[in-house]
Amino acid sequence: MKSKSTRNSPDSSTRENGQNNSVLTVRGLRVYFFTEEGVVKAVEGIDLDIKKGETLGLIGESGSGKTVSALSLVQLLPIPPAKIVGGSVFFENTDLLTLSDKKMREIRGGKISMIFQDPMTSLNPLYSVADQIAENLRVHRKMLPDEATKEAIRMMNVVGIPDAERRSIEYPHQFSGGMRQRVMIASALSCLPALLIADEPTTALDVTIQAQVLELIEELKQKYDTAVLYITHNFAVVAEIADRVAVMYAGYIVEEGDVYTIFENPKHPYTIDLLSSIPRVDKKLSHLEVIRGSIPNLITPPEGCRFHPRCKKVMDKCSKVVPERVEINERHFVRCHLY
Ligand code: SF4
Repeated sequence: MKSKSTRNSPDSSTRENGQNNSVLTVRGLRVYFFTEEGVVKAVEGIDLDIKKGETLGLIGESGSGKTVSALSLVQLLPIPPAKIVGGSVFFENTDLLTLSDKKMREIRGGKISMIFQDPMTSLNPLYSVADQIAENLRVHRKMLPDEATKEAIRMMNVVGIPDAERRSIEYPHQFSGGMRQRVMIASALSCLPALLIADEPTTALDVTIQAQVLELIEELKQKYDTAVLYITHNFAVVAEIADRVAVMYAGYIVEEGDVYTIFENPKHPYTIDLLSSIPRVDKKLSHLEVIRGSIPNLITPPEGCRFHPRCKKVMDKCSKVVPERVEINERHFVRCHLY
């Protein structure tokens, strides 16, 4: 983990009204999927704040709602079956949920860039990789074609694509999975976004390249004050890159705090169990814990606290009442009846 002194200072006094230096302020975001089997309550009222130059790590098991949350921020969910049924998403004081498709397209890929798990879903098979990066530069940074192509090749070099100039005219299918991911990262970073949403961007990469990509994102953040939403299920990556951590479970953010607090003094039983289930070099654990059960079906989620069927500290109230989000310390939030 980075030294605590490099963290952004807390500012809870202005937090709740959104009038702070947050690049992104999400309040009460709820996303459902209306399917033939029933309504999937995928995201149930999440709140998020990311300030300039801050990285928020959003962590949780598969199916917890991390990716759905990210896609709904930039309106990339398939509607229907998805529907945003409540909440607001303020980006630089504009509620993205009220924007037209045209306005949203201007923001996406420019002021807000995204890197997804699967690069093939984002790269167009009919255009060379340099053309795709250059198009972003022409549209969002208003570069002339020659200048944009030069910058695209430079970015390919920056993300470690060997022989970038020669390979710039090749097509996505001529690149390996890891190389395609780097092309997508080059494209996302090339527009110097105010907010970068990265959804498991290094899952397909080996550890050396993963370290280089994390370093790149860190550089971008330092240089341009970029805010980063980094989605992962990997605590090691979060420890490396995040200033703050939000832990997601079954559609709720159950705990949020700075990275030290979450690792050293977690309060929510789910966060505690998660941290006890992974090997850590900084803790002597006699054995690794297993979290019993699995994430619930979100068509018929458990009443009350959605974690209660798996929780070791469950009480009567837990199966009846949904816990509120409470601030137990400055910018340390927990949803649990124990607090
Ligand atoms: Fe466990 Fe109850 Fe807290 Fe949920 S609210 S995490 S069931 S103690």
